[in-house]
Amino acid sequence: MPKLIPVPDDLSKPFWDAVNERKLVVQSCADCPTLQYPPKPTCLDCGSENLGWKETSGRGRISTYVVMMDIHLARRVEDQPFNLAFIELDDDPKINFYSNLPGVPVRQVPIGAAVEVIFEEVAPGQLIHEWKIVE
Ligand SMILES: [Zn+2]
Repeated sequence: MPKLIPVPDDLSKPFWDAVNERKLVVQSCADCPTLQYPPKPTCLDCGSENLGWKETSGRGRISTYVVMMDIHLARRVEDQPFNLAFIELDDDPKINFYSNLPGVPVRQVPIGAAVEVIFEEVAPGQLIHEWKIVE
């Protein structure tokens, strides 16, 4: 399946820099306990602009999934159908990531299963995060 190659902007660059070091980070508010992803200019809870980054455990759980069969993104059409799983991050289950769960057959996603982050090279020197089921 072709992977999306990230195009970091000012807000997301620290995230992608960390991914290139095989770390999964989320934004962390210095003024309240909030963790958030995707990155925003301000804290969604208290409005602070005093945001840093925190490395996560890289572990989570599959909360649910959908099977994509009728989307019209040209570069994904030939891959359909494929799984799109929703991952709840262990560090804060309010934070969700999405995954195609490489290697898991379509419609056979084990909801509730534990997953951990893995990293795949999609372009020279550019990694992306993916997720795999841990037994
Ligand atoms: Zn805050």
